[in-house]
Amino acid sequence: MGEVIEVGSGVEKVRVGDRVVLPFNISCGFCKNCERGLTNYCLTTQPDPSTAGAAYGFADMGPYGGGQAELLRVPFCDHNALRLGEDAEEKENDYVMLSDIFPTGYHATEMAGVIPGDSVVIAGAGPVGLMAALSAMIKGAAKGGFNSSSQHRGRGGGYQRWEHDRWRPSVEHLPRPSVEFVLDRS
Ligand SMILES: [Zn+2]
Repeated sequence: MGEVIEVGSGVEKVRVGDRVVLPFNISCGFCKNCERGLTNYCLTTQPDPSTAGAAYGFADMGPYGGGQAELLRVPFCDHNALRLGEDAEEKENDYVMLSDIFPTGYHATEMAGVIPGDSVVIAGAGPVGLMAALSAMIKGAAKGGFNSSSQHRGRGGGYQRWEHDRWRPSVEHLPRPSVEFVLDRS
């Protein structure tokens, strides 16, 4: 998340002074994969034709520097930048939740097709797992639980459950750290 200080000649929507949120994946928005919604497998932004997908600061995902920097060049920024409203500065702490962990957890519930009344199991209770659980509850999952990785079971890990409206995300009550997770629903 940041403020735009300069735009290139090909940029039409984003303007200097806009406050924006960016995904860490970099995509073009017009290749075959992007048009199918698979922007994490963009064919344009990855220079190696034997693979797909690009990101800031990831090995083998293109020649792009890390996104957690003071200044960042954003390719295809009309497509990649989510422009925030006039309350961007006032609600910075809320909007920053749109930039990484929360959307990753939410996306997991999208991929799993979570619907109201579902039971959800999440393997791993790191930040992404917690946000997947919160997202499942937002979508109306009736109940669910975390199954921590085996390395944490000897330190109070294991399976912990929630039921709708009777559990709130709390790191203190959960095994950590683990960001590997699998979300399954029934
Ligand atoms: Zn693309």
